[in-house]
Amino acid sequence: MQSRTDPEIYELANNVLAEITQNLSDGIYKQLQGSLSFGWATAPKFNAWAESDTVVGGPPQHKIILHYELARLLYRDAEDFCSFASNERTKRLIQTAFADDATDLLPECFTLDDCIQNMFLGSLTWVYFHELGHLMQEHGRVRDDGRSVSATSTIQELDAHAAQILTGRQASISHATELAADSEATTQCLFASARHFLKGPLVDEADGAEVFIGSVYLLTCSLACIFYRFNAGSSPHVVTPITGSHPSPIYRLEHSVPQIYELTELLLKAFDFDGDRRRLVSMTKQAADLGSFFRNYAQGISTVETIHLFVKGFLQRPEFKPYSREILTVWDEIQPGITASRHFGTELGLMQFTAEFRGFVFSESSTT
Ligand SMILES: [Zn+2]
Repeated sequence: MQSRTDPEIYELANNVLAEITQNLSDGIYKQLQGSLSFGWATAPKFNAWAESDTVVGGPPQHKIILHYELARLLYRDAEDFCSFASNERTKRLIQTAFADDATDLLPECFTLDDCIQNMFLGSLTWVYFHELGHLMQEHGRVRDDGRSVSATSTIQELDAHAAQILTGRQASISHATELAADSEATTQCLFASARHFLKGPLVDEADGAEVFIGSVYLLTCSLACIFYRFNAGSSPHVVTPITGSHPSPIYRLEHSVPQIYELTELLLKAFDFDGDRRRLVSMTKQAADLGSFFRNYAQGISTVETIHLFVKGFLQRPEFKPYSREILTVWDEIQPGITASRHFGTELGLMQFTAEFRGFVFSESSTT
């Protein structure tokens, strides 16, 4: 297959997202007597936004906008990433970095063209579902805290040119709700992928689990690309006090990876396949690390030491404790209101923190 032209990318993206919007409109939004619309913005920015006109207690009135430039760059990233991951030099380099645990850098069940297409569609729908996540939980209202008289609230992903950098409680709420939208997006994407690959008409049962796992791997690679793109060149370090609108890419990856392997295992088991936790853990870590490596070194000019960018698990990250404490504190405050007004969605999409993680974050230690 030849590389797609930009207009072909826009057409494919529009077909896929228009169909998802139609299905949601005819399904859950109709049931709730609400409405969902979707559109494109032409300004050449890697950006997406979510707008809500819902009145308190009323049916959801939602709109999602993606920029064409976002779709274009997601596609080009998928192309570049797959070319990087299938390159012999990369394979040798990664084998030293990941030692014995390294699995194939691209899933063997897909051709190179399928990898590009699946990675693109995974990342595109993930961004769409992230915006839907903001809307499902009415984050605009949560962030506004009753200050605005307008019924319309908007959440922009790219906040680089905001008139004023958020600080204090507003910044903490913004970061916590971004992580909450990530949770909704990952859940929606994995459910859609499981429906498509584990019981879709195109796949015979024997291959179902492998292609599902392959699609999860590519989605995890693409999350690193998405998080660094939205970070727009800012420092990836996790700092307190929390400022700005979005969490750092490293924190977002550490937050997403366990959710991905846990939910993948759950879905495999629900469809009567084996969910090998060990394999899923090392596979998702490799995917996230490879995506970060690609964005920072193959595409970027990062000077951050590789080891800081790689996923280790929150329990191995005492340096994130102060940040996590701020997130947990504000999330515990806003979560009951969010749960009460959340319009729809499986409980698995709601951001949750385990007792073990809470104990770790609030334990006394030398790192404060
Ligand atoms: Zn967001």
